[in-house]
Amino acid sequence: MAQQPHTAASAAADTAFRSALDVVAGVEPRIAAAIGQELADQRGSLKLIASENYASPAVLLTMGNWLSDKYAEGTVGRRFYAGCRNVDTVEGIAAEHARELFGADHAYVQPHSGIDANLTAFWAVLSQRIESPALERAAVRNVNDLTEEDWARLRQELGNQRMLGMSLDTGGHLTHGFRPNISGKMFEQRSYGTDPATGLIDYDALRETAREFRPLIIVAGYSAYPRLVDFRRMREIADEVGATLMVDMAHFAGLVAGKVLTGDHDPVPHAHIVTTTTHKSLRGPRGGMVLCQSELAEHVDRGCPLVLGGPLSHVMAAKAVALAEARRPEFQAYARAVVANARALAEGLLRRGGKLVTGGTDNHLVLADVSGYGLTGRQAEAALLDSGIVTNRNSVPQDPNGAWYTSGVRLGTPALTTRGLGTAEMDEIADLIHTVLRATAPATTAKGSPSKAAYTLDAALRDATAKRAADLLAPYPLYPGVDLV
Ligand code: PLP
Repeated sequence: MAQQPHTAASAAADTAFRSALDVVAGVEPRIAAAIGQELADQRGSLKLIASENYASPAVLLTMGNWLSDKYAEGTVGRRFYAGCRNVDTVEGIAAEHARELFGADHAYVQPHSGIDANLTAFWAVLSQRIESPALERAAVRNVNDLTEEDWARLRQELGNQRMLGMSLDTGGHLTHGFRPNISGKMFEQRSYGTDPATGLIDYDALRETAREFRPLIIVAGYSAYPRLVDFRRMREIADEVGATLMVDMAHFAGLVAGKVLTGDHDPVPHAHIVTTTTHKSLRGPRGGMVLCQSELAEHVDRGCPLVLGGPLSHVMAAKAVALAEARRPEFQAYARAVVANARALAEGLLRRGGKLVTGGTDNHLVLADVSGYGLTGRQAEAALLDSGIVTNRNSVPQDPNGAWYTSGVRLGTPALTTRGLGTAEMDEIADLIHTVLRATAPATTAKGSPSKAAYTLDAALRDATAKRAADLLAPYPLYPGVDLV
């Protein structure tokens, strides 16, 4: 479940990382120093960022090699470059692990990030549902064979589609059709949200909006929703209005892989297409992935060069290693512990008088509403960071402070669970968080009003909290045996 204590493998990792840094230091010592310092920083703080984790030494080491030097546009066995047999091996194994781990018809492991995976998926749906029928109508096989008139019509049609996604303030992601992201510029977007009374997704309202709006794509998935999603119900709604159901499981892929989210809560059997990052709860390298039903496979496989550059073969190799790790029984124990830890953290905060969006959690994250402490999310985030606790501020539903200052702090347990911390430590962490937030107050601006950013916190309490955080982490070394600084 957690990282292994000192073993032959950790000694080998120590040698490998040290040697690599020696080589780097011979060229640009400042970069070697920054890499070493990052390890020290990560070791020294309580990482509660819900979207982060610690990949294994095997995953990290798989990325540092000459696979990076190879161009391999195309797909396995069908490349636009010569000499790709080893990349074919790597990509083939990664896709095989992904298909078998998630029970998907097809896996595409090239996307460089979550945003790229979503873009690949959007264009796969547009290709299947808009472009292919247009080619058929024109009785041609390729867009290059369309007349100028047909091409102009198709481009208009591609740019005139609708998407329904979860609103940002209830936990959706920017890539689900919001204007600052390309998805919002490509699609006319409408949002669905949560019931203000319960904080839970309002499926009836979602159905009504879908019936009226008739989107091409319904996007499910979130980055800040602490409860389960009923993907069976989402699929029923999508089918009723003729939409493609896409699920972005970037945040909870590790819980699907670890068989914590099953049945109606596992998106893979229900969605037409599923995207994910590989570096969050899945604990792999920084990257993305698309899973889909077989009808969409040929469209998904056009990701490169449609929207992606040449595949990052070294990262695909690391994805294969991470997916192999996620297929082990230990990963299921890890996923269960992530959820148990989130629940313990939530209960610890509630017991001390904290306010949580939806009143708790069913997954890996907790969304604390810090307005009861008289703080903005930004102040809470900064005060916690100063005290050795790394979180990130986040909007709460109908947030009066907007997306910059916010009223919430998002807390996640995937990283600390990897380190080996358990439910007893989560209760202690809840105490640290509560103690810091209770002692923090907004600073007064020059005009005499409370600031939304600046804050005051007693230095002795801050330092004592950082010391308690370090003591909590001490029995759970990060990358045990690796001794760089
Ligand atoms: N989708 C969701 C739900 C996310 O939470 C994120 C990142 O936070 C992304 C997509 C984007 O991932 P990336 O940063 O790898 O592009």
